[in-house]
Amino acid sequence: MQDQYTYDYIIAGAGCAGLSLAVHLVQSGQFRDKKILLADRDSKQQNDRTWCFWEKEPGLFEELVYCQWEKAWFHGDGFSKLMDLAPYKYKLIRGIDFYNWCHALLRKQPNVRFVNGEISGMETNDTGASLLVNGVQYQSQYIFSSIRDGKPVLDKKDYYLLQHFKGRIIETAEPKFTPGEATLMDFRVGQEEGTTFVYVMPFSEKRALVEYTFFTENLLEPAAYDKLLDEYINTRLGISNYQTTEEEFGVIPMTNHRFPVQRGNIIYTGTAGGQTKASSGYTFRFIQKHAAAITQSLIRTGTPFNQPKNHRRKYRFYDSVLLHVLTHKLLPGDKIFTRLFKKNEPQRVLGFLDNETSLREEIGIISTLPTWPFLKAALRQ
Ligand SMILES: Cc1cc2nc3c(=O)[nH]c(=O)nc-3n(C[C@H](O)[C@H](O)[C@H](O)COP(=O)(O)OP(=O)(O)OC[C@H]3O[C@@H](n4cnc5c(N)ncnc54)[C@H](O)[C@@H]3O)c2cc1C
Repeated sequence: MQDQYTYDYIIAGAGCAGLSLAVHLVQSGQFRDKKILLADRDSKQQNDRTWCFWEKEPGLFEELVYCQWEKAWFHGDGFSKLMDLAPYKYKLIRGIDFYNWCHALLRKQPNVRFVNGEISGMETNDTGASLLVNGVQYQSQYIFSSIRDGKPVLDKKDYYLLQHFKGRIIETAEPKFTPGEATLMDFRVGQEEGTTFVYVMPFSEKRALVEYTFFTENLLEPAAYDKLLDEYINTRLGISNYQTTEEEFGVIPMTNHRFPVQRGNIIYTGTAGGQTKASSGYTFRFIQKHAAAITQSLIRTGTPFNQPKNHRRKYRFYDSVLLHVLTHKLLPGDKIFTRLFKKNEPQRVLGFLDNETSLREEIGIISTLPTWPFLKAALRQ
């Protein structure tokens, strides 16, 4: 096969996971002699999402952080608390800034190439793996793929909820927000559709992202999101005079389905590789941890398969239990999250949601939740 079609590593899907992995590889400085190809149908010119996440230390994308908060409100049924998140910071990165920054860095690398096109096939073979883009075949030692194949075929004990949300960036005429104080979850909204909350991320006194979020089995009619956002902004935030400058709509699968980690020389990354936390939908930080683990494994052993154990089974079990409770409506989501934040320090909850707690801490957290519904769900799992 001609040289231009053979690579050491192919990254199929250059979205969050694909670009993150390429940046981790390049920034390590250990792969200058490796030919890397990134393939995607989308050239990433749109601000199609914002990523929120929390971390203690500055990350690889620190200079892209658009805004960050050290304090955050939680509002539940009869309970409100302004939480000091230190040592965590809650950060927001805009999709377009991420795409532009990654493209600028990667396009400067002589060993990295992009191909823009439709990926229609991917096969593992004796010498590595092959990828079909716009009908052209590329061969490499490994393919790292974040291409999703629609909804997975579910097993009997698999749950599949949708986290769907609509957000608006609004600008108000009067100062209405307190910069530095985000609202992580506001459950003081109707819960008839299922677990429903709003978060508010103020960028300044007059500008904020307001997002309505649901964990349910089905989406709402498009107009319903707008009606609820109108109501929340008018009634809860007390804002009538404002302009919407940007909108965001998204759906993230919340499932305990076991996504394949690899198929021969194809390694799955991102949501396609199970990096979306089933009980929260958060993915960005898990993608970064996964990209770092793959990079380290390649450096140490020359293969991507020697990643440290991350107790996936334990966390999958916790996630499955929560999804069981929510799907079977054993307890409403607002009650669960209210208990979690009322009875535990926020740092502990954030660590738990990040899969970064010890067994002792986990037992402590679980003991603050109502025993019977969770025990019932745990036994079923
Ligand atoms: C609107 C939105 C907001 C989100 N906000 C957050 C958040 O705040 N915090 C958080 O942790 N997570 C968030 N997520 C979840 C998650 O972080 C993102 O979905 C993230 O982009 C997942 O990364 P990924 O690489 O798996 O998928 P993507 O970023 O979607 O990348 C997959 C890539 O594959 C390409 N592709 C797919 N099929 C083909 C094909 N056949 N041929 C060629 N290319 C193809 C796509 O064009 C895309 O670029 C959000 C998701 C959405 C949709």
